[in-house]
Amino acid sequence: MDYAVISDVHGNIEALDAVLADISGRGGKPKRKILFLGDAVGYGPDPNACVAAIRGQVFRGVAGNHDWAVLGLTDITYFNPHARAAITWTDEILTAESRAFLEALPLVKRIERDGLFLVHGSPCEPEEWHYLLYFSEARLNFGHFKEGICLIGHSHLPFVMEQTPTGEITALRGQKDGLEAVRLKAGCRYIINAGSVGQPRDGDPRACYLLLSDEEARFVRIPYDIGATQRKMVEAGLPRPLADRLSKGL
Ligand code: ZN
Repeated sequence: MDYAVISDVHGNIEALDAVLADISGRGGKPKRKILFLGDAVGYGPDPNACVAAIRGQVFRGVAGNHDWAVLGLTDITYFNPHARAAITWTDEILTAESRAFLEALPLVKRIERDGLFLVHGSPCEPEEWHYLLYFSEARLNFGHFKEGICLIGHSHLPFVMEQTPTGEITALRGQKDGLEAVRLKAGCRYIINAGSVGQPRDGDPRACYLLLSDEEARFVRIPYDIGATQRKMVEAGLPRPLADRLSKGL
């Protein structure tokens, strides 16, 4: 198994291009496959370009709550006002082609050969977009998939939780501790959040993605031209705080 895992791109093509260049620059034979954990659009100024890049490069993917919101498939009254404004803006410029790609994304995806379960928010009630952040939530969710590894996004906070064969759960990498790589042990099960390409929230503004092999989960941080994305957001009339937060990674 040898994957690059991307999530929460959120219409940020500068971040996505930088990440895709890093993935292809690493080589690997056969070419490393890319998994996508949802939220191609929302917040950022280039939803169509991001959907096109994801469509062209991703091996398997799932839908996120912002993707569903733009498609009218999920209630947006619980979105904060800035997120809601960005969804309305995205809805107006999304092409039929982009829409068709997002509509075809499933809520969950299993890759049985590698024992992977992909979902944007949580294995338990994926259509409710629950956040999975704490041990109590991890304990519940380990019972909602049978594979060895569940890959999630949604909170934009990269972490690795491990469940031993006796059921103990530990965080091998917390949400903000910056550890680059963790070793994966045979017999243990994992919930891994891949972090966010286009809007990191762990205090590090660089784009985040995950390299996943049988032995380890490795988080990679990639600098990109944040100023260029912010200028486009301001020109597009997207809410200013959404542009500002990119510099802080919060
Ligand atoms: Zn997101």
